[in-house]
Amino acid sequence: SVPAAILSALSAAARGGVLFKGGAALETLAEVRSFAFDKTGTLTTGRAEVRHIRVLDGTREDFLGLLAGIEAHSEHPIGAAIRREADRNGLPPVPVGAIHAHPSEGLTGADAQGALWAGNTRMAARMGADVAPLGTLLDGTETMVMLGRGPRIIGAATVADQPRATSAEGLAALRREGVGRIVMMTGDRRAVAHRIGTDLGLAADEIHAELLPADKVALVAALAEQGAVAFVGDGVNDAAALARADVGIAMGAAGSEVALQAADVALLAEDMGRLAHAHRLARRTARVIR
Ligand code: ADP
Ligand code: MG
Repeated sequence: SVPAAILSALSAAARGGVLFKGGAALETLAEVRSFAFDKTGTLTTGRAEVRHIRVLDGTREDFLGLLAGIEAHSEHPIGAAIRREADRNGLPPVPVGAIHAHPSEGLTGADAQGALWAGNTRMAARMGADVAPLGTLLDGTETMVMLGRGPRIIGAATVADQPRATSAEGLAALRREGVGRIVMMTGDRRAVAHRIGTDLGLAADEIHAELLPADKVALVAALAEQGAVAFVGDGVNDAAALARADVGIAMGAAGSEVALQAADVALLAEDMGRLAHAHRLARRTARVIR
């Protein structure tokens, strides 16, 4: 049977919005030496907004309607940002079918005129598209979404999202707890990762960008050589890393169903300060039951 100390710690954690799937996860959390965080929707709010748009071919309205069409069913915060922007401009999404999600790259689909894609430079490269005509839009520190047909880029939008109000303090609290290593892992481009990471007090070598889901898994495995690892994430692209980590922690309210299923813990209160509380609680409980 589960020791009373663990049961009472689990219920104390739950009252604080940290839901453990079982006592084993609490015991493992006490051993955790490294915390790895996803960026988008985890350390940031995931409520991204469209900032800049550059259209190379056609009107701004056509561009936004088509981009909203391909992003119509995307679970990614980028998709939601694009849909809100189109809606705000009164532009109905163009019907796009055969949509296929490529994690950490973007989406492919087809409308009445044929195949199209939306995504980052990795997706553009896959399509043989030259991004150079986008000019200065490439230089910013915002997330970029390009829209294209095969090798032809129609246009691009940048979206930006902000750190959660509790992220910087949450990471600082984990450091005070004695957590040895704290890193950020993101599929987003380096310039964005550095802006957000630096804002949160992370050093350059703690910021890992332009990762595919499998790269996150490999980095978690590398950290695991120095002791137990917790991974905190929200997206479909985080599911494998959540499963690989000794303790997978998924964002509760805004996180994807896949991430929640792969995780051992759900962070219902979207308060990063709760992680340090849970870690301290886990360590205290471990001392009591030993
Ligand atoms: P993170 O690891 O920060 O949560 P992701 O791995 O989900 O980020 O995404 C990495 C990048 O892949 C995004 O910054 C974006 O460039 C691209 N991407 C992912 N999903 C989409 C989408 N639905 N539409 C356009 N681009 C996308
Ligand atoms: Mg994410």
